[in-house]
Amino acid sequence: MAAATPSVSRRLLARLRDVMAGGGSAEERLDKVVQLIAADMVAEVCSCYVMRAGEVLELFATEGLKKDAVHKTRLRVGEGLVGDVAAHARPLALADAQSHPHFAYRPETGEEIFHSLMGVPIIRGGRVVGVLVVQNRTQRHYSDEEIETLETVAMVLAELVASGELVSREELVPVDGNALLPLRLEGLRLNGGVGIGVAVLHQPRITIRRLVAEDPEIELERLRLALTSIKTALDELFSRPEMRDGEHRDVLETYRMFTEDKGWLSRIGEAIRTGLTADAAVQKVHEDTRARMSQVTDPYLRERLHDFEDLANRLLQHLAGEGGPASRGELPADAILIARTMGPMELFDYDPKRLRALVLEEGSPTMHVAIVARALDIPVVGRCKEVLDKVEVLDPVIVDGDNAQVFLRPPDDIRDIFSDAIRQRQQRAAHYARLKDLPANTRDGESVRLMMNAGLLLDMQHLHDSGADGIGLYRTELPFMARSSLPDVDAQTQLYRKILDQAAGKPVVFRSLDVGGDKILPYWNPYDEDNPALGWRSIRITLDRPAVLRHQLRALLRAASGRELRIMFPMIAEVAELVQARRVLDLEIEHERESGNQLPVAIKVGTMLEVPALAFQLDALLPLVDFVSIGSNDLAQFLFAVDRGNPRISERYDPLAPAMLSFIKSVADKCKAAGVPLSVCGEMAGRPLEAMSLIACGVHILSVSSPSIGPVKTMIRSLEVGPLRAYLATLLRLPDRSLRDKLKAFAIDHGVIL
Ligand code: PEP
Ligand code: MG
Repeated sequence: MAAATPSVSRRLLARLRDVMAGGGSAEERLDKVVQLIAADMVAEVCSCYVMRAGEVLELFATEGLKKDAVHKTRLRVGEGLVGDVAAHARPLALADAQSHPHFAYRPETGEEIFHSLMGVPIIRGGRVVGVLVVQNRTQRHYSDEEIETLETVAMVLAELVASGELVSREELVPVDGNALLPLRLEGLRLNGGVGIGVAVLHQPRITIRRLVAEDPEIELERLRLALTSIKTALDELFSRPEMRDGEHRDVLETYRMFTEDKGWLSRIGEAIRTGLTADAAVQKVHEDTRARMSQVTDPYLRERLHDFEDLANRLLQHLAGEGGPASRGELPADAILIARTMGPMELFDYDPKRLRALVLEEGSPTMHVAIVARALDIPVVGRCKEVLDKVEVLDPVIVDGDNAQVFLRPPDDIRDIFSDAIRQRQQRAAHYARLKDLPANTRDGESVRLMMNAGLLLDMQHLHDSGADGIGLYRTELPFMARSSLPDVDAQTQLYRKILDQAAGKPVVFRSLDVGGDKILPYWNPYDEDNPALGWRSIRITLDRPAVLRHQLRALLRAASGRELRIMFPMIAEVAELVQARRVLDLEIEHERESGNQLPVAIKVGTMLEVPALAFQLDALLPLVDFVSIGSNDLAQFLFAVDRGNPRISERYDPLAPAMLSFIKSVADKCKAAGVPLSVCGEMAGRPLEAMSLIACGVHILSVSSPSIGPVKTMIRSLEVGPLRAYLATLLRLPDRSLRDKLKAFAIDHGVIL
C-alpha cells in the first residue's frame, strides 16, 4: 500500500494548479484532475460528484468507473456513501465499503469490484458543493494523511466547482434556503431592524492589466478625466432629494474634499511620472495608504483612510472604463450587501430600495457608511468576522440588526420567525400610526406629554409621523462628531434653524454639547483618562472651554430668533455649574442684543439631572430653572456606580430597583411642589414597563426614541395609574433587588398593554 507522503501531495497540488490554469473546458479539466488524483494516490478509481439543484449529487468525472455513468449516476444527499459524506460534510474512509449499511450499489458504474472507498466533501463558503471519492480493489486502509491530502485537493477543486462553469452558480445555491450548513454569525449592531434577502458581495477590487505607461502625459489626462467623472457623479448624488440635508451630506462633502486632496493627488502624479499607468499609480498609492492604515489605531483617522480607499477603488473603476454600479449587473430585489468595509459613497452605487441590509467584516458605529445607512434606514451589522469566507453569492441571508446577528442559509424555521417578526413590525407600525393623533392620556385621565429624542436632522421627519409632542432631547453633539472640525457659528445656526423649521412650532429642547465619556470628538485630543465616564466630559468641558459653549449658544439664539428657545445643560452636578452656564448664556443674549439681532421670543433654560448630587440641592436649583430632565442612562450609572458601557456589568442593576424609583419619585415630588416640569429622557422612558413605573412615580413628560412613541402611548392609554401609584408606595419599601416582576404582574392583572 502506497501512502501519500506530504511531498506527493505537494507535487499533486502543483500539477493540479497547472491543469486548472490550463486550457480546455471545465469538464475536460475535471477529467484530467481525476486522472491525476487516481495516479498520484495509487487508486484505481477517482470520481467527482457535483451538487445539483434539489440536493442531488451527480457524477461529473471519473477515472476507473464506467464512463457511461457520467451524468447518469445521481445520488440524493444522504443516499449511499457519497450522499453520506455530503450530508455530514465530513470524510469517510472504509476498507470494506460494501458492507457499510449506507452502501448503495449502482450497476451502471461497475463499482462492484472495488472494495475500499475514501470520500471527502468539496466545501465552498461553508456549503457542500460536491464530493470527491477514490476507490481501490483491495480492502485498503486509507491513512489520516491520505484523507488530509484528498481534503486539500478537494479545497482546490472547490474553486472549479463553484466557478459556475460546471453548473450555473444559481444552481449551486439552493433557492429554498435548505442548505447543508446554516450558520449564525455575531457582530456589532450598527443599525437596527431586520432584513431578509440574498447575498450580494461588494467587490470593488479591479485587476490591473497594464502597469507600464508609454506616455505619462496621457496617463495624467486619464487620471484627470476619471476624477472629473467621479465629481460629476457626486454632483448628481448631491442633487437627489434624499441628499438635501443631514449628516450623510456632511460625510459626502468631506468625501468630495478628498477628490481635491493635494497631497494624495500629487503622490499619484509622481507615481505616474516614474512610468506607471494611471491605474498602477492609483493602486500603488492606495497600497501605501493601506499599509499605513494597518498601523493607525486612531478610529477617526482610520475612517478617513477608508474614505481614501473607497475613492481609490472608484478611480480604478473609472480608469478601467467601468462606470460602477451598472457594470455590477442587476441587483436582486432583496439584496443583502456584504463587504469587508465600505466607503460612504459606495453605498449609493446600490439602489437603496433593493437593499435590505448591510453586513461588514469591519466597522464601528461612527464609521461613515453606518451613518449613511442609518439615514437610509438600512439595518447594518458590523465586525461580522469572516462573513466573506462563509457566504456565497445569492445565499439566503437574514440580518437581525437589533441583536447584531446574521444568519447565512437559515433553515426554514428561522426564516419563518423573522418573516413573522417583520410582519408583526409592520402590523404594529400600522396600529401606532392610527394612534398618532390621539392623546397620551391614562384611563383615569392623567395626561402625559410624549416627546421624542433626536440627534440627526433626519430624525426630524419622525417628529410628525410619530405624533410626538415635541423634541424633549436634541443631542447636539452628533453633528460635531461627524465632521472633521468644529462647526462654526454659521454652520451651527443653519443646522439649528433647519431643526426648528422642521419642528414647525412643536417645542425642541436643545441640549448643549455633551461630549467626552464615550462620545469622543475626533479633532479634540482626548486626555487619557482612567474613568472617562467620571472624567472631563460634558458641561465640564464646555465650562472650561467657554468659547465652544458661547458659539453654540450664539448659534441657538440666532436660529431661534423670533421663536421660542429651550436650552438644557447636561451633567450638572452642582447648582454653581448651572449658574455659571446660565451666565455664559446671559453674556450671549447681551451680545446679540448689542449686535441688534432679534432675540427669541422666550428663552427657557433647564438642567439635566444625571448626577445624584444635584438631587440634594433641589431647593436651591428649582427656583433657577424652567424645567428639569432626568438622564436615566447616566443617573443609573452614577447611582449604582456601574459603567454603562461595560457589558459585563451594565445589566447588573435594574433601573426598576427600589433605589432608582425612590430617587426619581423624590425628585418628582419636589419638582411638583415647586411647579417645575420634570421629564425623563434616558432609554428607560422608552420601555413600556419602565414608562409605566415612571408615571406612577409622578413623571408626566417622557422623551423617547421615535420607535418607542407608539408602544409607550399604547401602554399609557391602557393604564389606570391611581391603583398603581398606591401599590408603588408599598413596593418601594421592599428589600427586593428589582420590582420588575411585581410591576409586570400588576400590568398583566390590570390589562396594561406592554
Ligand atoms: C442620559 O444620560 O440618560 C442621557 C439622556 O444622555 P446621554 O445618553 O446622551 O448621555
Ligand atoms: Mg447623559
